[in-house]
Amino acid sequence: MRDDFKNKQFETRAIHLGQVAEDGTRSVTTAIYPSSTYRVEYPGDESGYVYSRWANPTRRALEEALASLENGTRAFAFSSGLAAMNAVFGLLRPGDHVVTLTDLYGGTRRQFEKVLRHNQIDFSYVDGRDPNDFEKAVTDKTKLFWIETPTNPLLTLIDIAAVAEIGKKHGVLTAVDNTFATPYIQKPLDLGADIAHHSASKYLGGHCDLIAGVLVVKDEDLAEKLYFQQYAVGAQLNPFESWLMLRGIKTLHIRMERHSVNSMKIAEYLESEPRVDKVYYPGIDGGPIPNGMKLPGGMVSFTIKDADFEKVKKFAMSTRVFVLAESLGGVESLINHPASMTHASIPKEIREKHGVTDTLIRLSVGIENVDDLLIDLRTAFAAIK
Ligand SMILES: *Cc1c(COP(=O)(O)O)cnc(C)c1O
Repeated sequence: MRDDFKNKQFETRAIHLGQVAEDGTRSVTTAIYPSSTYRVEYPGDESGYVYSRWANPTRRALEEALASLENGTRAFAFSSGLAAMNAVFGLLRPGDHVVTLTDLYGGTRRQFEKVLRHNQIDFSYVDGRDPNDFEKAVTDKTKLFWIETPTNPLLTLIDIAAVAEIGKKHGVLTAVDNTFATPYIQKPLDLGADIAHHSASKYLGGHCDLIAGVLVVKDEDLAEKLYFQQYAVGAQLNPFESWLMLRGIKTLHIRMERHSVNSMKIAEYLESEPRVDKVYYPGIDGGPIPNGMKLPGGMVSFTIKDADFEKVKKFAMSTRVFVLAESLGGVESLINHPASMTHASIPKEIREKHGVTDTLIRLSVGIENVDDLLIDLRTAFAAIK
């Protein structure tokens, strides 16, 4: 990393880090190095780049920028958020136990239940709003706490520092899926977590044009273990997409500011909308916002009053600016019906028990003009009168 930028502010580092070493071209932007392999000076020479599964200049530039933005020391970029998560589970052994949350991204839970359980990894699901839920669930086999905050889709906030402290007491690693908040809003490693995880397909990329995942750590031993998983398993991010993410993170801070301003206005509108039952948005219930969150972020969920599946479906199909689509975190607003889309892989009894009902709608609020977004939602409510 450029030493002269180490002490610069987040916004300045987001824009100026992520450069490859000077290659004689004086290019202002980072080059894409597609090379799979590199000329060595003698057999066994590992002094520079050797093979791109191990390290690639464009990916390394990205990883250095990401490490800095999360206040970590090393970062690793993967071909998806789920591939990045799987690298963490490469550290576990059959018989190990993990404590995680009932409210989780559906694909995360699917990997836990349908892939990792088959490898004899055991999972306990807790509500987690009370950090003692983690303490109570710990066994002598527990190796990892895996949390999201805000959670997907109910935007529950989990106290990272409290969970990480319980983890430290029991020799358990704490990993935080920081996809919804991004490092601009919250820094899990500074709060004591061991691993910050991202689906970079969302806000880090920021334009719905890339699938990628990220892990960031402070501890050097843990970094070496995760680096081994990255190159030994081979789910690393390719050079073009590394470049695309670098381009995305240059505007992360201004996007998150606008996502939050727009979302706050939309959450306030939804609170006043008679056809809405409950609004989920960090801080909207007047409760404290933990983890030093700088902003509430760009995700808003709500339930529609006295509606059945058909009515909710009609609502989700009646917006014109909000695009009906999976995913989140892009500049464009998206509308999602978790029960039939992002969280459809979770059995109905399980998801309904903790609030992911058929009447729940999740918005990824984009950075369009907020008045157009508000008109769009009003029109959709009028359509289900
Ligand atoms: C999308 C998402 C993931 C999965 O990431 P992919 O990039 O789709 O593999 C994990 N966690 C959260 C919170 C997500 O929203």
